[in-house]
Amino acid sequence: MAIKPEYLPITTLGHDDIRAAVRAINAKYPLDYWGQKEKREEFPQEYYDDFVKAGFTTMTIPEEYGGGGATLSQAAAMLEEVGAGGGATAGCSTVHSSHLALESIIHFGTKEMQDKYLARMISGELAVTFGVTEPDAGTDTSRITTTAVRDGDRYIVNGQKVWNSHAQRAEKVLLLCRTEAREGDGETRHTGMSMMLADLQVPQVTIKKIDKLGRNAVDSNEVWFDNLPVDASDLVGEEGKGFQQILRSINAERILLAAECIGMGRWCLEKSVAYAAERVVFGRTIGKNQAIQHPLADCYMRLKGAALAVREAAEAYDAGAAPRDVGRLANTAKYLASEAANATADVAMQTHGGYSFATEYHIGRHWIELRPLRIAPVSNQMVLNFIGEKVLGLEKSY
Ligand SMILES: Cc1cc2nc3c(=O)[nH]c(=O)nc-3n(C[C@H](O)[C@H](O)[C@H](O)COP(=O)(O)OP(=O)(O)OC[C@H]3O[C@@H](n4cnc5c(N)ncnc54)[C@H](O)[C@@H]3O)c2cc1C
Repeated sequence: MAIKPEYLPITTLGHDDIRAAVRAINAKYPLDYWGQKEKREEFPQEYYDDFVKAGFTTMTIPEEYGGGGATLSQAAAMLEEVGAGGGATAGCSTVHSSHLALESIIHFGTKEMQDKYLARMISGELAVTFGVTEPDAGTDTSRITTTAVRDGDRYIVNGQKVWNSHAQRAEKVLLLCRTEAREGDGETRHTGMSMMLADLQVPQVTIKKIDKLGRNAVDSNEVWFDNLPVDASDLVGEEGKGFQQILRSINAERILLAAECIGMGRWCLEKSVAYAAERVVFGRTIGKNQAIQHPLADCYMRLKGAALAVREAAEAYDAGAAPRDVGRLANTAKYLASEAANATADVAMQTHGGYSFATEYHIGRHWIELRPLRIAPVSNQMVLNFIGEKVLGLEKSY
């Protein structure tokens, strides 16, 4: 028993060639591959290499820079299929790993910086991670305390980041630092931060892996910087405008993560429908019981609704809608998709009964790996704050 392909919740309809190409790669990596990568805490290098070779990791980069010149809708379709492939968040984080850094260097980097780094980044040789979150700032980025102090033709960086993905293998980190102290609690609190491309694998940097509940094929880390020199030419964009520059890329990131959630939700739903149609208890398939059937039907509709929201956001982005409108749609898509996917993973656990707990079924891996998507890269409470204040016009609640 399977859901008819034309009824599947799909993020952005069509893009059949892209979907088929991703499915062909996915088919080379069975569920056991992902189970082993998780167990051994090993980066899925072969999977990554296949996506680099197919041009998917850089598909939205303009052609003049050596990318594919694709739309965000096409990238969303690609990442939805990655999400639907069984690799869960580990697979998705592998494929989208350098997206934010690439976008920032293209939009804000100097020609010199682009000549120096882009070709190696596009070929997949130079991995760059994203370092924003700090232990004492959390969601309130304005309170980061990692500093970069100008010293002649370089900056000297001191401080700590946390949750930095891929830091074990990456050569560089796109770092958000304070180049000026935080000023007041008003709008100015977000100025004075700067973005720079810093080395990771040098003696002035200490990297410690965080033990995690899941997504162990992709490492997460605490990172300390002790008098790390960064060339002034590695400042990305304008000094003091780093936070505003990040805002430019976060809408795209939210839409793409939402598409990944739809893919993972689809995977959980398809597995559960097949299981419910086959598993016999009390002499009947469990799917014949409304307590099993109704939650699956509910999840189908939640995913379907969320997929429409992702599609609307991606199309608005591609049509060049005003950032305020894209922000409203991107946040809505991220919230609905991550909530729908998490609900579906939970229903998948219940549908599979005790077997959901056996790693052999890979349901638990999806359940665990989907959970942080309600928290990161922006928590769903902060999305509710945004909608309440910026869309509904209510008083700021914090
Ligand atoms: C697997 C994973 C990978 C990550 N990768 C990276 C990475 O590569 N680079 C990077 O920089 N960061 C990364 N992060 C960090 C992630 O962006 C943060 O965890 C996230 O921004 C939340 O910050 P926090 O964990 O400090 O939570 P906190 O800010 O401490 O918040 C704790 C809780 O309080 C809630 N809360 C706080 N303030 C409010 C408020 N005003 N109203 C309502 N609720 C509120 C939050 O929503 C949350 O639920 C990653 C995190 C995870 C789990």
